[in-house]
Formats: sequence, structure tokens, C-alpha cells
Amino acid sequence: MEKKRAIDEMIKTWELEDNVVVDPILALLHEQVIEHERKMLERGENVVWVTDLLRCSQKRIFEEKLGLVQMPTFEMLHGVIVHEGLEILCFTKFGWAKEVEFEKEVEDRDLYEQTELGEKLVHEAVEGRVWKVHGRVDMCDGKRIYEIKTLSVIPSAEVSEHYRRQCEFLNWLADADECMLIELSHTGYRKTIIREKATEEDVLRAIIEFKAPRWAWECRYCQYSRWCQYKVAG
Ligand code: SF4
Repeated sequence: MEKKRAIDEMIKTWELEDNVVVDPILALLHEQVIEHERKMLERGENVVWVTDLLRCSQKRIFEEKLGLVQMPTFEMLHGVIVHEGLEILCFTKFGWAKEVEFEKEVEDRDLYEQTELGEKLVHEAVEGRVWKVHGRVDMCDGKRIYEIKTLSVIPSAEVSEHYRRQCEFLNWLADADECMLIELSHTGYRKTIIREKATEEDVLRAIIEFKAPRWAWECRYCQYSRWCQYKVAG
């Protein structure tokens, strides 16, 4: 009887106003993911996140038009747990900062492309337009920044182009000399130091350039794929 009462009490704390029973742990993890997505949705004009520079341009258009956030998958929730765990451990044991946000401004300017006939103007600057670039590094030890990735399997090939680019953008954003990329899976662990740094022009090109998808595999995991004219089989 005691046990039953204890369970009833516990379930009561899971009840939301509309009487939907939700596991509080799952709800907490969802909240962590959705909070970040919401922040991205609420960005103002001329505000971009580093993640925007690394993903399909059409996704942002769908988000703004439909106001949808990505529903968290179990892989994402698992990633939240691993991130939080490692970040808290390193904060507690080594005093490393966690989830550090950065912002940098980039002035709009003309961009050119080299063609066989010489330089071609591919983007004309809007006078006075300034882009605000936001991003977050997982950890920072005062000398270098850290980016954590959770994977099902660590590929035997070297670090993916996608992760490498992300670290290069973060090095630029945080004015860091190097980014330690930590890849974690159930069966392995790999650390790679990325010293390359994106330039301001690289960032501006990534902001301006419309690329849909940006990576061949993106459409496979995209919640907008059924409405998208740019969808590719990847
Ligand atoms: S389906 Fe592909 S091209 Fe379309 S929005 Fe999604 S990722 Fe981008």
C-alpha cells in the first residue's frame, strides 16, 4: 500500500496541466534540446548561429516560415546526457568553463569568385549591414576550446569535413588557437586537434551562399523533406 502511494505521488509530479503524463527525465532532456532550438528560432534579422553556417540553407527558411523546431530524437537526448556529464566532470575536476557563448560581428562586403574570364562579383554588399554571428563552445580550459560529438560508431576514416569546418568556425569565433574535437561512441574515443581557423571572408561566404542541402546526407534526417523541392537521395 505504501509503495502504491509512493508511486501515485511520483506520477502526480509527472502530470502536466492537461493531464498528460510525462516522464520527468525525458521532459527535462527534451527541454534542453528544444531550448536551444527555440533560441535559434527567435534570432533577429542578420543574426546567424555557427550551426547555420554548417547546415542546409533551406532548413532555416522552413523554420522561419513554419516555426517548427526539430523534435528531439533519442540520439539527440543521449548526446545531451553525454555532453552534460563530461562538461560537469571537467568543470568540477579541472575548473573548465562549460557551454561558453561567443558573438562576433561581420560587416557585409562584396564577394568575388575566380572564373576563367577573371573575377566575377557573386555578392554585392548592402551598405551598413552587419551580421551578428553567435556560437557556443562545449568547454574551454583557458588555452583551448573543446567540441564534443557523440556517435554510434567512430569512423575509421579521419574526422568528417562537417566537424572539421565547425571547429574552424569556432576557432574564428572564440579567437582560439586550437579546438580539441572529442568524438565519443559506445566503443571508442578519439581526440583531434584542429588548428585551422576560418577567416571572416569564409564566414561571410557561408552566410551568403544558398546551399540546399549543404551535405549529401542531410536530407535523410530532415523533418522538412516531404515538402522540399531540393531534397536529394543521399
Ligand atoms: S530536404 Fe534536404 S534540401 Fe530540403 S530542407 Fe531538408 S536538408 Fe535541406
